[in-house]
Amino acid sequence: MCGEELEVKNKCDICNQANQFFCHSCGHVTEEQIHNQCAMVSFGHTLLNLK
Ligand SMILES: [Zn+2]
Ligand SMILES: [Zn+2]
Repeated sequence: MCGEELEVKNKCDICNQANQFFCHSCGHVTEEQIHNQCAMVSFGHTLLNLK
């Protein structure tokens, strides 16, 4: 990481908040953050879809 401001690379499907960032100058990409709450919601949807 070079300390430059990070740009949003990805947004959470569930809450639409940024969950992954990248650096324009060095190309560093952060790990995708998984929101616990959203993971639960997503898991719930999966279960519902199986019915
Ligand atoms: Zn950088
Ligand atoms: Zn989320």
